[in-house]
Amino acid sequence: MKGSKPPQCKICKTEEEKDLLQCISCYKIIHTYCHEPKLDHIPEEYRKKWKCESCKICELCKDFENEEKIIICESCDRGFHYDCVSLKSIPQQIWKCSDCSLKEIKKEEKKK
Ligand SMILES: [Zn+2]
Ligand SMILES: [Zn+2]
Ligand SMILES: [Zn+2]
Ligand SMILES: [Zn+2]
Repeated sequence: MKGSKPPQCKICKTEEEKDLLQCISCYKIIHTYCHEPKLDHIPEEYRKKWKCESCKICELCKDFENEEKIIICESCDRGFHYDCVSLKSIPQQIWKCSDCSLKEIKKEEKKK
């Protein structure tokens, strides 16, 4: 018998030790397939710096207050308050932060 408790996914509450993502901030663990959106593998950057939904902070003001206002960039998975990125409300569609949108524009330009 091992002394330590096996890690338990906070979403499905099972102890399947497979495809686990750990939050660097609260050490909460979830399965990649319990992650929203589902992941079929763990991206390298997630291993180093993934944060769960409840630990997302706004990257601009570094504040985690007004959590319900935080939107997540589809591309880099960072959180921002929608009003910190000059939006009037939470976008209904997929949203990308200005860094990622800029990168994409540059990529597009390179292609040409
Ligand atoms: Zn799970
Ligand atoms: Zn967390
Ligand atoms: Zn903010
Ligand atoms: Zn981004």
